[in-house]
Amino acid sequence: MPVEKITLMTKFKVDLTDVDESAISEIHRLFEEYRRIVNELIYFAASNHITSFMGLCYAKYRELRQRCPTLPSNYIVTACQHAASIYKSFIERRELGMCEKEKPMFKGRTIWLDEQSFKLDAESWRASIMINGGRWIILRLLHGKYHERFKGMELGEARLVLRDDGLYLNVSFSQRVTLPEMSADAKVIAVDVNENVIVYGNDDFVERFETNEGIIRTRYFLKRRRIRSKIRGKELQRRLLEKYKGREWRRIREIYYKAAREIIGKALEIGATVIVMEDLEIYKKDMGSKELNGRLHRWSYGRFQRILEYQAKLHGLNVRYVSPAYTSSLCPVCGGELNPSPNGRRLRICQRCGLEEDRDVIAVKNLKKRYYEECASAKTSQISL
Ligand SMILES: [Zn+2]
Repeated sequence: MPVEKITLMTKFKVDLTDVDESAISEIHRLFEEYRRIVNELIYFAASNHITSFMGLCYAKYRELRQRCPTLPSNYIVTACQHAASIYKSFIERRELGMCEKEKPMFKGRTIWLDEQSFKLDAESWRASIMINGGRWIILRLLHGKYHERFKGMELGEARLVLRDDGLYLNVSFSQRVTLPEMSADAKVIAVDVNENVIVYGNDDFVERFETNEGIIRTRYFLKRRRIRSKIRGKELQRRLLEKYKGREWRRIREIYYKAAREIIGKALEIGATVIVMEDLEIYKKDMGSKELNGRLHRWSYGRFQRILEYQAKLHGLNVRYVSPAYTSSLCPVCGGELNPSPNGRRLRICQRCGLEEDRDVIAVKNLKKRYYEECASAKTSQISL
């Protein structure tokens, strides 16, 4: 059975009450220097069209090392990784029509730490961070019962994050899980996500989970527009926008987690071992002309997929992404072409076999069908080898 490493990022607030002034100003100095370097690297990446971390590191590491002699070299490496990732996601967003700026700007509120520039003592929840001159600062982390489950898990990289309400350390923990095989006789649940509803099921059942995500997003969109037109101070405006953005995402994330719990619960109940979802990468490559709205939605869908995938694997379920092409336009029974039905707005009718079904149900059944088709064709190609 396949073994996979699952990684989860968790957030700690740093207790700054006992930290002295000089340590705090050292931390701020680190943020400033790091920001300057990342922005310089982004500028360099954009001017030279470099999207790979290795390429950026190769071109700039030595020079930065000489110019910033007291900064631990780990930060130059993570700054290269960070800048490459910002520039890469900027290009992706621009291609999706989600931003119009010339180049991205890093606001400097996050520092990427690698395994050598921070240590964590999970017994006392204290973290040590390497600062200028290779010295260390020890920080006490505020923690809850929730964090107990990370004890014994493998420690990965971390991010130091400065926010209006304090300093945070986001740490990634990972765990190895053994997953069931994705075979042609596995029982599956397919999941299709629409703007306001997540639909999941197989041939035996189809359930709907109302997310109302589109409604929530519209409400926050209007709120942000009001802030932009009514609030005068730039800084206050930025803070308010950030606050509502955070609130919107936390609200949607909570709904996503609830939906994931429900789907996983159902899978365990009926003995399904594989969750099937749309492969969104295919959209990115092939479907350049779809309208903007749908693209924004798929971006959000990607976040739901990651939550569901992670939670599913922790519960011993496997996850398979299949091609979404034609899942809403072809009949899941005979493969015939579907037309809108005269009997209802959401209904589709098959030209060939006469099947009449809700379009969400059709999408779910097609995703499930595609899983078995892909399993079968993988088997055939193995035999022909
Ligand atoms: Zn049909």
